[in-house]
Amino acid sequence: MTGGPVLVINSGSSSLKYQLVTPDSADVLASGLIEQIGEPSGRITHTTGSHSETEESPVVDHGAALSALREQFDRHGPDLDEVGIAAVGHRVVHGGPDFSDPVIIDDAVLTEIEALSPLAPLHNPAAVAGIRAARARFAVPHVAVFDTAFFAGLPEAAKTYAIDRELAAEHKIRKYGFHGTSHEYVSHQAATELGVPVEDLNMVIFHLGNGASASAVQGGRAIETSMGLTPLQGLVMGTRSGDIDPSIYMFLHDVARLSVTEVDTVLNKQSGVKGLCGDNDFRVIEQRIDRGDPGARAALAVYVHRLRHYLGAYAFALGRLDLVVFTAGVGENSSLVRAEATRGLAHFGLELDEDRNASRSKDSRIISTDASPVTVMVVPTNEELAIARKAQNLVG
Ligand code: ADP
Repeated sequence: MTGGPVLVINSGSSSLKYQLVTPDSADVLASGLIEQIGEPSGRITHTTGSHSETEESPVVDHGAALSALREQFDRHGPDLDEVGIAAVGHRVVHGGPDFSDPVIIDDAVLTEIEALSPLAPLHNPAAVAGIRAARARFAVPHVAVFDTAFFAGLPEAAKTYAIDRELAAEHKIRKYGFHGTSHEYVSHQAATELGVPVEDLNMVIFHLGNGASASAVQGGRAIETSMGLTPLQGLVMGTRSGDIDPSIYMFLHDVARLSVTEVDTVLNKQSGVKGLCGDNDFRVIEQRIDRGDPGARAALAVYVHRLRHYLGAYAFALGRLDLVVFTAGVGENSSLVRAEATRGLAHFGLELDEDRNASRSKDSRIISTDASPVTVMVVPTNEELAIARKAQNLVG
């Protein structure tokens, strides 16, 4: 059955997010979050409209999480049999070199996704567990939508690391990029808002959430992105370092005497603005800056320095820049980050309107001056809707 809502599932190692969404109207019929999977205590939150129900109950594994999801719908609605879901859309972080489009999941596809686990050891096994459990409970087409897909067509020079070719080929080491579903969705939303075909626009997109990435999109096609083989490369993030001298890995191992696992934990979980100032929530960082806290100020300076580095690099890669777009938690909400990232660039055609930038809204909006040759926008991302639409397109 097509035309019905799509159940979107984002299955992480210890949590699972879901949303029941109608792709055409973007109506969210229900959403939920299942937390602490595999731990002695668990929490399940199910939201319909403005009403949320939270339940504390252990969730032993992803199978139990899917049973809990089903139970939430049975108890609090909407009735899944009545609404007739058209498909289940699964967010899959790593599509490797072969998945450049969404696919209907069969046993062979599932095996392939599982085989990509060395490239995304934290993410792909969790997605596979979620897909297996969901396929056992929902007899509708299941569609995998890959975070890497939008960047599958990066130019060779952009996606190639300057390391031994054979070693890279053997282990599939190249730049893959992540947050692709968001970058693609936002590029189209921005074009629609401006009333200009995406094919006619060159843009730099900053997806600034807890994880953060930049992309250069030329005529709707991504030509560069800041994340790499893994989501650790690129921008300074909430808890990830982003770009560092690769030798820091060895240095921390040899000189600071950290194990390889400890180095990985430091760079992924204890770095970024959290490592610099102790906080990774920009609401808190901004409050600290307002109080004159030098540590928070310094962390923001490092964060912004990297944003500007990528903005400049990507503007040159594009050759002509029409649009800069900010999205995700920090990008949509922090007028301070947006102002600092674009300060003093009038000579490069980029001029922010202070009042527009300061105004708060959940809608897409232009925040540059009318005279600014480069338009700057805030465009809220909606990865669930994008996944639902891709699933619908495939099964419809
Ligand atoms: P992710 O999906 O990567 O977890 P989000 O896109 O939801 O992240 O972004 C989460 C981050 O957004 C928070 O950690 C916080 O830093 C930032 N954020 C959310 N709301 C605000 C706000 N009002 N002002 C500044 N930053 C905000």
